[in-house]
Amino acid sequence: MPLALTYVPSLAHDLPDHPENAARLPAIQRAVQSLVSNLQSSIISLEPQPATLEQLTRVHPPRFIETLERLMAEAPGFIDYAPTYITPASFECARLSAGGVLRAVDAVLDGEAESAFALVRPPGHHATPTQAMGFCLFSNVAIAARHAQARGCGKVMIVDFDVHHGNGTQTVFYADPSVLFISTHQEGIYPGTGDVDEIGEGAGRGYTLNVPLPAHAGDAAAERVYAEIIGPAAERFRPEFLLVSAGYDGHWRDPLASLQFTTTGFFRQVQALRSIAQRHCGGKLVLVLEGGYDREALAAGVLASLHALLGYDSAPDPLGPAPYREPDLGRRLAHLKSLHHL
Ligand SMILES: [Zn+2]
Repeated sequence: MPLALTYVPSLAHDLPDHPENAARLPAIQRAVQSLVSNLQSSIISLEPQPATLEQLTRVHPPRFIETLERLMAEAPGFIDYAPTYITPASFECARLSAGGVLRAVDAVLDGEAESAFALVRPPGHHATPTQAMGFCLFSNVAIAARHAQARGCGKVMIVDFDVHHGNGTQTVFYADPSVLFISTHQEGIYPGTGDVDEIGEGAGRGYTLNVPLPAHAGDAAAERVYAEIIGPAAERFRPEFLLVSAGYDGHWRDPLASLQFTTTGFFRQVQALRSIAQRHCGGKLVLVLEGGYDREALAAGVLASLHALLGYDSAPDPLGPAPYREPDLGRRLAHLKSLHHL
């Protein structure tokens, strides 16, 4: 079965000197073009539709959506300190970005594709139900998880490998045992949440799993985290659908943070996620673009992820290995395993 792509470049949602600008998706598209033309039968492109009010209100209260739409009259400007900017087109761009993710979920649920990658922006994982923040307007992955549930998937697993904590997604499902949310991120950077002790509340206690990593952690750390934490957590949860907040700002070249994932490391992470999806949910897997601000590293990371989704044994790594030695994670992982009984 083919791999599906949705592409929402949102060229009118732009601030040229901002890291989350409209040059990001064209850079990805240039990189994937040759892969797509070589593999036309294996990759299909899907036309996204804007997310409907009904789809958005599964996560965001109508009042938030109305306020955001009304703010377009005051654009261009900033709506939080991160800084999260808006242009007059941002509301429609954000609806289409969320809709691009939903189209990818539908393609997988309808059997048009085994897996999909929603190449969309603005990103979503920092947006809480009631607050746009961290370059994010709507909580794309949370909206997608609710959509998958509305279509009959009882249990949805979300893995967020963006270098920043997926605080918005976490907020949506914090008390909800039907969604297992796992975030790996660099500790001590924006947005400041994602401590190991944030494990969910009420019925959702134990269904939020945060893996903060120290600066300079990289591929070796990721390999251990997938083998010792994420794999076993999936084994216990048995998801019916796997969604991934795929941010590439954990690459060693990224200007916003200092983890040391490589392009090959992203390939291996997506390989591990694909095998979790194949083992538990018939391969049903949708990657959703979040951050990634070094455009070469972003494009190479997405390309490597597509190679993994297509079942390749390796992917090109034009940027090479990370510069610094990685810290040891032994005690940290032992603490996490005992906290989550893994
Ligand atoms: Zn990020």
